[in-house]
Amino acid sequence: MSDPLIDQLLFFKSLGVTHLRGMPEGPGSLQEKAGDSPANLAEVREIIGDCQRCKLASGRRHIVFGVGNPNADLMFVGEAPGADEDRLGEPFVGNAGQLLTRIIETMFDLERKDVYIANILKCRPPMNRDPEPDEVESCEQFLFEQIRLVQPKIIVALGRYAAQTLLRSETAISRLRGKFYDYRGTQLLPTFHPSYLLRNPSAKRHVFNDMKAVRERLR
Ligand code: URA
Repeated sequence: MSDPLIDQLLFFKSLGVTHLRGMPEGPGSLQEKAGDSPANLAEVREIIGDCQRCKLASGRRHIVFGVGNPNADLMFVGEAPGADEDRLGEPFVGNAGQLLTRIIETMFDLERKDVYIANILKCRPPMNRDPEPDEVESCEQFLFEQIRLVQPKIIVALGRYAAQTLLRSETAISRLRGKFYDYRGTQLLPTFHPSYLLRNPSAKRHVFNDMKAVRERLR
């Protein structure tokens, strides 16, 4: 099946365009592999390999790729692995992750394995600092591929960083949250990050409403 993005890249290539602004370039980029896009998530993971594309490689223990149902209707996207995720190699397994799991179970009557969970960055930034633009530029291509392959009906962006990065917006998460946006052809709803909820339990009611809106659209 032809992929419109790859077709477009091949078209640009035929015109002699060697780089598109905002797309990672050089060895190991998916752009380099236009016409040879991964057929499944295992292939995306294989392309990532023992990734050295950005400076986070030197400090990580595990590349945290993503987990869950490869055909999930619902996908959650966070910012980057934290210490627990780096240690265990799985996204959202610390305290915030346990809260996310409870949200999935109670709001959607699903198990964690029924949804797909990933982050924008696959490696932990030191001291959990915000991801830097060059790191996002190297890594985001793999999230694009995960989304293309899973084809979720709805993506929930968890927290300020994920929401602002995916939507290319500087609007505060308190204003972005609770509404649906078009993200590369998929509906995306930003909500508060579960670690924010751990610090601000009164914000849980907003996430409850946001997840209800997602549930309605998944019906
Ligand atoms: N926070 C995130 O954004 N992602 C994780 O995987 C864990 C904590």
